[in-house]
Amino acid sequence: MDKRPRILTGDTPTGRLHLGHWVGSLENRIRLQNDYDCFFLIANMHAFTTRADEPAAIRRDTLEIVKDWLAAGIDPERSTLVLQTEIPAIAELSWYFAMLLPFNRVMRNPTLKTEIELKDLGDHYSFGFPLYAVGQCADILVFRPELVPVGEDQVAHIEMCREVGRRFNWTYAGVDPQAKDEDHIARGGIFPIPRALVGRVGRLTGTDGKNKMSKSLGNAIFLTDTNKEIKKKMGALYTGRKTMTEPGDVNNALFQYVRAFIKDPARVAELETKYAAGDNIGDGHIKVEVAAAMEELLEPMRQRRAALEGEAGDRRVLEILHAHTAKANAVAEETLYAAKQAMKLDFGRRSIVFP
Ligand code: ATP
Ligand code: MG
Repeated sequence: MDKRPRILTGDTPTGRLHLGHWVGSLENRIRLQNDYDCFFLIANMHAFTTRADEPAAIRRDTLEIVKDWLAAGIDPERSTLVLQTEIPAIAELSWYFAMLLPFNRVMRNPTLKTEIELKDLGDHYSFGFPLYAVGQCADILVFRPELVPVGEDQVAHIEMCREVGRRFNWTYAGVDPQAKDEDHIARGGIFPIPRALVGRVGRLTGTDGKNKMSKSLGNAIFLTDTNKEIKKKMGALYTGRKTMTEPGDVNNALFQYVRAFIKDPARVAELETKYAAGDNIGDGHIKVEVAAAMEELLEPMRQRRAALEGEAGDRRVLEILHAHTAKANAVAEETLYAAKQAMKLDFGRRSIVFP
């Protein structure tokens, strides 16, 4: 048994990974791989909540995201890569959690509200769409993690996950509702109350200069973009500034990128001072400098990814997912059985065979 505290986090296969993922979560995952027993989940079931009619695209993006992970430095020798649809305990636990969360509490979740608006889902989203927020509580808690590295938009979801963990422990395991979060396990709770760990930049703005950089909004710089694509996207970034002598706003998207990707703090400070003063420095020049910094970050990823291209790469990814999902199921089944025992549903243990 691995004694290290656990991490659980993941991504939905609604596209490829972008720089927002890097600064918001991926960077932390890679940094913490030694000290934590890490589980990284592909939420492929949740991808169906917005793209039920696109199974082939979901499958393709599933493989592409795993390739992005490996290219970014997630090490399959140290971390466990989990395919959500192969972990039945998650779906079961989602049902039990759905009974512990008031309907209106779920619908008030600000992250869901923002997503409905941004993705233009109107009032025609599926029943499964809001259910994903409940399912995500199960994704997390079934691995009983201490820490969940995520971007800022996910904090509301993690808060709901913490709430459901507390409520379960109180309802079925007799943990005092006043108990401190960190004491839940010592007091006999089934689930730890995990903490969100938000990355260096909690919400990276997209190249539209306005919304969160997002796979589904057409405003992302992907980890797999070529230098040419990056330059083009950076070139089109809107700042609203017209001349080099006009004082610029160092809180705009361009300067968020300056701080996120230019490594030398002295250069960042110099750019900020000049820009704020309108000291003869053009947006175009800064964009080129930022693009170069992004390229420097992405170059080693491109090299690692080159080894994963094509069918051989797909096979490698499927092998990893298969082997790792077996390990993940062992952990998830143990948690589910403990939860069912607490709920007086222990009518027999089962084991999942993954031949
Ligand atoms: P979608 O548009 O389908 O919602 P997404 O781009 O928001 O996709 P997710 O799979 O929903 O990506 O998010 C994966 C993780 O990356 C989450 O922890 C999320 O908070 C984080 N993340 C996503 N976009 C950003 C961003 N722009 N800045 C910081 N973190 C982000
Ligand atoms: Mg999202």
